[in-house]
Amino acid sequence: MKVLYIVGSSRCGSTVLGNILGELDGFFNGGEIRFLWSRVLQGRRCGCQRPVDECPVWKPILPSDGRDRRSIRALDDAQRNVLRLHHSPMLLRRSRWTLLQGSELAGYVHAMTGVYERLGQLTQARVIIDSSKRPSNGAALRLIRGIDPYLIHLVRDARGVAHSRLRPKANPDGAGEMPIVSPWVNAVDWMATNLAAEDVRRHWPEGRSMLIRYEDFVAHPRRVIDRIVTLVGERLAPDPFIDENVVELGPNHTVSGNPDRFQRGSVTLRADMEWMDRMRSSDRMVTTSLTLPLLLRYGYRLHPQA
Ligand SMILES: [Zn+2]
Repeated sequence: MKVLYIVGSSRCGSTVLGNILGELDGFFNGGEIRFLWSRVLQGRRCGCQRPVDECPVWKPILPSDGRDRRSIRALDDAQRNVLRLHHSPMLLRRSRWTLLQGSELAGYVHAMTGVYERLGQLTQARVIIDSSKRPSNGAALRLIRGIDPYLIHLVRDARGVAHSRLRPKANPDGAGEMPIVSPWVNAVDWMATNLAAEDVRRHWPEGRSMLIRYEDFVAHPRRVIDRIVTLVGERLAPDPFIDENVVELGPNHTVSGNPDRFQRGSVTLRADMEWMDRMRSSDRMVTTSLTLPLLLRYGYRLHPQA
């Protein structure tokens, strides 16, 4: 079974990318699967609108169908303790045998092996999409037996991400609003995440990963989806695109992610470039100066025009 992992910063467009891929035959979009355990404990909702532990896909995957809260809590703790961003280099470089001497990580890897396996059985999917984004969780995929891992590194202009994280956005899955993040914190987070994502990609099996810019994806979504489908050795069928930029989205079972995961019906993809006109110049300056080396590496311009 193939696992397509999407790595990238916050607000990089992974939700809509995952949603479109999830419409294809043989694909199942699980959303940000690393949050499976915490979302059950918080009573939050799946993409199908049911609480995660009442969803027909996730319920049978949870320990004792979700009743074993102690195990779920232990897995949530493990996910936060041993898969932090700074663990990524170690997860990529140490031998599997050495890493699995740690009981917390070994327990987590064992649980995730079961999650992917059961998802494959229940959904009959050939490709499971995991848009967890965090590089360390992507790095840990090399420890999981029985999967063919693929990687998309999704990058979005740091200024677009910063502006998006300054705007209040309601989260209909029961969590109130998405947190507001200062441009300083965002810039450091964006740099650290993308540098770690590049490191994960360098260690990934040859020919199984791809760098995609959010801006290119929303400008030509069908073309980019086609490239991803080719990467994982599948076909673009059925074609969810009504037009080059209009896509038909059905219900999904994303366990967590951006509120956009609840979108249904025909959705027109548009680049969110509001930051070019609306972002305060001081916020823009902070973001540009702190992220400049990577902005230039990814082909973003210093002063792009709207
Ligand atoms: Zn569901």
